[in-house]
Amino acid sequence: MSQGSPLLISGPCSAETREQVIETATRLAKTGKVQLLRAGIWKPRTRPNSFEGVGEIGLEWMAEAKKITGLPITTEVATAHHVELCLKHGVDAIWIGARTTVNPFSVQEIADALKGVDIPVFVKNPINADLQLWIGGLERIHQAGITKLAAIHRGFSYYGPTVYRNKPMWEIPIALKAMYPEIPIFCDPSHICGRRDILLSVAQKAMDLGMSGLMLESHITPDEAWSDAKQQITPEQLTELIDQLEVRSTDLPVDIIDDQLIDFRQKIDNIDEQIIQLLGDRMRIAEAIGEYKKEKNITILQLDRWREILKTRSVWTEEAGLSKDFTEKYLEQLHKESIRTQTKVMNSNRSSLT
Ligand code: PEP
Ligand code: MN
Repeated sequence: MSQGSPLLISGPCSAETREQVIETATRLAKTGKVQLLRAGIWKPRTRPNSFEGVGEIGLEWMAEAKKITGLPITTEVATAHHVELCLKHGVDAIWIGARTTVNPFSVQEIADALKGVDIPVFVKNPINADLQLWIGGLERIHQAGITKLAAIHRGFSYYGPTVYRNKPMWEIPIALKAMYPEIPIFCDPSHICGRRDILLSVAQKAMDLGMSGLMLESHITPDEAWSDAKQQITPEQLTELIDQLEVRSTDLPVDIIDDQLIDFRQKIDNIDEQIIQLLGDRMRIAEAIGEYKKEKNITILQLDRWREILKTRSVWTEEAGLSKDFTEKYLEQLHKESIRTQTKVMNSNRSSLT
């Protein structure tokens, strides 16, 4: 059972129309769970000729939504001009997007535009897995005199098969927290997942790691959203998701929490998650090999290759300080599963491959 609610930032990926912004805000306010209304006004899109945001007019719609619902508003800025416009329209907090955090020139430009203004600033992690670059972004904003500073973990770009749109690589926000415990970290499951079905598990993981809050995209008609349609949920689905979260009370007496043990367990969880994902990646390659062997009419078991695997892996495992017995058992199971996967492909109907 949930023991409380996380701080929640929600709203559409993009402001699209006045009606959409107002209706989303009204329905979000009704949930009673949202503290800050988000909407993207300028959208950094991976490919050109996509919808790139409505621009300044969207700030007017957000300001109106704020007036109606009382919810403070936030949006993404990438230039000094964006900052200026946000201040002009009474935006309460701003965030720096992942594609901007990667560029120290842009972050510095934003920092300079913020001098003398103390509004809350969220710095999303850079798209690449670089903790120093994330810290650098936070430092630039901090040095501009911003005192209400927070980080947003939105996952990292990854080339290769993964269930995520952006891999969470939890060890990175954990390392940030260890270095700067005073900086609150929010998690953005929407951009980590890129899909709705795993939002809850990522949000739960963020809560288990003691993150301060969540940024979750919501839309009145998610499937029709002009950007990030696959990952958005309705305000009502948002309520359901939040209600299912188990939030550990932060008021637990300190002496019943063994910080070190929690830390060790989180590290183990992360490593296991990565091992399992890598094993999944390995099996998908085994499947592709199975298809190749089927095409070329080659037998599944290639003894020379198996001997080579045993030889190289036993050297690697010795170097890693693992026992010979463990390595043999592990490799045997791995090989068995790989052969099983390839056999499945070999026996599948050839027409299904086309
Ligand atoms: C967004 O929040 O809509 C967004 C573009 O995020 P990110 O910078 O994490 O890609
Ligand atoms: Mn988005």
